[in-house]
Amino acid sequence: MSSKKVVIIGAGIAGIATAIRLAVKGYAVEVFEANATPGGKLGEVIKDGFRFDAGPSLLTMPEYIDDLFSIAGKEAAKYFQYQKLDVTCKYFYEDSTKLTAYADKEKFEQEIVTHTNELADALQKQAANSARIYELINPVFLQRAFKGLKEIFTKEGFKAFLNLKKLDTGRTMHQANKSIFEDEHLVQFYDRYATYNGSNPYTAPATLNVIPHLEQEFGAYFPAEGMYSIIIALVDLARMLGVKFNYNSPVDEIVLNGKTATGIKVKGEVIDADVVIANMDVWFTYNKLLKGYPKLHPKKVLAQERSSSALVFYWGISKKLARLDLHNIFFSADYKAEFDQIWQQKTIYQDPTVYINITSKLKPKDAPQGCENWFVMINVPANTGQDWEALIAQARANILAKLSSRLNENIGKLIMNETVLDPRGIESKTSSYQGSIYGTSSNNKYAAFNRHANQSAQINNLYFVGGSVHPGGGIPLCLLSAKIVAEAL
Ligand SMILES: Cc1cc2nc3c(=O)[nH]c(=O)nc-3n(C[C@H](O)[C@H](O)[C@H](O)COP(=O)(O)OP(=O)(O)OC[C@H]3O[C@@H](n4cnc5c(N)ncnc54)[C@H](O)[C@@H]3O)c2cc1C
Repeated sequence: MSSKKVVIIGAGIAGIATAIRLAVKGYAVEVFEANATPGGKLGEVIKDGFRFDAGPSLLTMPEYIDDLFSIAGKEAAKYFQYQKLDVTCKYFYEDSTKLTAYADKEKFEQEIVTHTNELADALQKQAANSARIYELINPVFLQRAFKGLKEIFTKEGFKAFLNLKKLDTGRTMHQANKSIFEDEHLVQFYDRYATYNGSNPYTAPATLNVIPHLEQEFGAYFPAEGMYSIIIALVDLARMLGVKFNYNSPVDEIVLNGKTATGIKVKGEVIDADVVIANMDVWFTYNKLLKGYPKLHPKKVLAQERSSSALVFYWGISKKLARLDLHNIFFSADYKAEFDQIWQQKTIYQDPTVYINITSKLKPKDAPQGCENWFVMINVPANTGQDWEALIAQARANILAKLSSRLNENIGKLIMNETVLDPRGIESKTSSYQGSIYGTSSNNKYAAFNRHANQSAQINNLYFVGGSVHPGGGIPLCLLSAKIVAEAL
């Protein structure tokens, strides 16, 4: 057991998970959060009797959450319940094709064979390829610290280097999907997984074709009380373990003695610590909390392209639409044009792919009787100063026209109330540089190697967790970053 003191900057999911892991190891842990509530991007919106999960809506790998209860000697199911989805998502194409992604493999194959020109063989080939990549990268890149090029001198790193070709880094996700599928519906279906970490399938390496494996092999889940209940359950667990949370407490500075972090400064007060862990976006950690030490900034890492951001409309809807499920995708007719607009023109495409998440389908009390809570999201570029007011107004009109046409229903008339989240809001509410939702993008084959490491190479006693550092964004990877740092300590 250790009596060392750890301070954590930010109560995002990775910060909370790190707090739990270190409290279990005997550290005295204190978390400082700028906002009035914990969760960061994983928040909630409540309006006129409707409740919405504000950010993440798809839960994969819930066992990483269970694990936090297990290591604390608690039975996870008593504190946090979730169910596996039989239908992962419903897909609506512009040519009127509809696909239901069943979790059951045979049922899904049947669905594809019935509604597209694809053969089950192609799905099996894709699944085998995805599984193969997962087996290669999981032990080397996901479950352990990755320290850049010097990894080549470790046993695991050298093995990964030898396997580089097998990781399919030489072509893009889209090229790989085109080589497997004949039918464009399936190419678009599998290209979309690039957006799970805010990337572009036309430039991101085919290694990212590992992502469907997490959803299709391990499953998609829904927490019984919605996504925000993950945060409530984990903060309760952390408190039980003695972690102290300070809200409305923005950290202004990481205090250094030479090249060693010795604490933080909050509201003018210095809090001493043996270890400082930043769950804050790594770009702002350096540029705000370590701005007096430009020589210690990893400039190349910080200069990388950011992941895409999101525009979300939270709509209270006055009707129940039986055609929709918990997760629904309305694809654009021209996917390439959509990604070109996001990544090259840094703007919003006129026919965006629209994602609708409706938690009231499984948790009816999230909406009043006879109503539904729609979380309507499109992928948009990170904030580089676009005219967001004009873009949002245009996007809203385009989304309503698209949904009304696909669902044969005047959706605009069903909206009872609305809240909007755009890249500027994501940036200001969670200090995520440019409002990107997954840190840096994975749009080139070196991106995975160039993410900021979990331990500072320059500053002693300084560690990093969360979606902007290794191994990446999204709830499962954020939870793995917490595990890596707890093990490193
Ligand atoms: C719209 C949207 C949809 C998403 N969909 C999914 C999904 O379906 N599935 C999925 O797995 N992931 C999804 N994600 C990504 C996922 O939400 C993130 O990867 C994850 O929640 C990031 O957690 P984090 O621990 O890195 O911290 P964050 O959530 O970024 O939180 C960081 C915290 O640090 C605090 N902070 C920052 N600066 C300071 C400071 N100076 N002092 C004190 N506190 C500070 C912030 O206030 C914040 O609370 C989505 C994200 C968004 C926005």
